[in-house]
Amino acid sequence: MSTLFSLEHAQKLDAQDPLNHIRNEFHIPRQDNGDEEIYLCGNSLGLQPKLAAEYVNDELSQWRKLGVKGHFSGDFPWMPYHEFLSEGFADLVGAKVKEVVSMNTLTANLHFMMVSFYRPTAERHKIIIEDHAFPSDHYAVESQIKYHGFNPDDSMILLKPREGEETLRDEDILEAIEEHGDSTALIMLPGVQYYTGQVLDMEAITKAGHAKGCNVGFDLAHAAGNITMQLHDWNVDFAAWCTYKYLNSGPGSVAGCFVHERHHTNKDLPRFAGWWGHDKDSRFKMQNHFTPMESAEAWQLSNPPILSLAAIRGSLDTVKKAGGIHKLRQKSLTLTGYLRQLLEQELAEEINILTPRESKASGAQLSLTVNLHGADGKQIFDAIEAAGVTCDFRYPNVIRVAPVPQYNSFVDCYRFVNILKEAIAGAAS
Ligand SMILES: *Cc1c(COP(=O)(O)O)cnc(C)c1O
Repeated sequence: MSTLFSLEHAQKLDAQDPLNHIRNEFHIPRQDNGDEEIYLCGNSLGLQPKLAAEYVNDELSQWRKLGVKGHFSGDFPWMPYHEFLSEGFADLVGAKVKEVVSMNTLTANLHFMMVSFYRPTAERHKIIIEDHAFPSDHYAVESQIKYHGFNPDDSMILLKPREGEETLRDEDILEAIEEHGDSTALIMLPGVQYYTGQVLDMEAITKAGHAKGCNVGFDLAHAAGNITMQLHDWNVDFAAWCTYKYLNSGPGSVAGCFVHERHHTNKDLPRFAGWWGHDKDSRFKMQNHFTPMESAEAWQLSNPPILSLAAIRGSLDTVKKAGGIHKLRQKSLTLTGYLRQLLEQELAEEINILTPRESKASGAQLSLTVNLHGADGKQIFDAIEAAGVTCDFRYPNVIRVAPVPQYNSFVDCYRFVNILKEAIAGAAS
């Protein structure tokens, strides 16, 4: 067939890619034979930026040399350390600097956000989520509903794709909001769906939810560092994201959170408070009267784990070296578009791509199912893994592959499709 599917063509695309050099900012894992892995798993755990290691070592060194004085010494004192991340986070999600903060972990932040933004009443007690939400989100929502004395059977509205379809239709989401909106306290949906890679229309959902008087929050676990967003302009109430997927900040690293500025001075919002949310000018007066900061920082509880924040700072500086999320998204569209093109050309019969095709409805990840009698997705997955590909498998039968624009190449995509073809041919014979 055409020369599209050739190593030479992929190499040419890499040579033309203005962000090709950013791969050198990362440690790429190696296979047992010494070759670099074809690592397509950044949707699960992003690779280590060299700057992350450097910045973590800097803080270990500060601690070693300065002890407690590290809170106030050097270029990046620990006391305001979280503030050094805010500009980078704000750029990633389209927010004002005071609307974002790094704190806790993702599921914890969802709970803390629901303390403020899920305030059910007898008339308005529902939460709209998706039927196939990430389990942690499902558990968090279900437990919040029970905590407030409501019954998830009545109060949890689960959005499902239509019969025979894999992804949610925008019009169906808006219709559900229309139908349940008057009795809904909160709409909490993903920016990018973890299983299918579908990007939801966050702006339209927020608008529809607000028109019905609901609060609207997003889980951006698969969106932050992947797609571009404008949370402030879209008027989103809150959002939370982890930093270990597309944000390459290390396993279990501290999460991010967004609270729209219009909520910052609302004294009626309930909040679980801690000293790090207290006005920083009087925090160390150690008084009992809580004076919240007038920013997303008001939702902080504890002084944060600096070693984790250092890794995030390394990752955010690496994003900056690449020219920011808009540049990365541009490359991502080309890179994932190329992967899709190869799959459709070489494996049209054998592979089904669940992820929507339109660029506004998809990010880096493609979710694949294998249509082969006698071979299941897991068998194919095991074969490609043995051949040097790292990607992931989600039950019941989806292989997720995410070429990440910071460190994946067009050659990675080419090699992946080549290996997948061989695995499928092997399973079919
Ligand atoms: C990855 C992911 C999580 C993980 O939650 P943690 O609290 O970070 O362990 C939760 N929700 C979604 C949608 C995810 O993709």
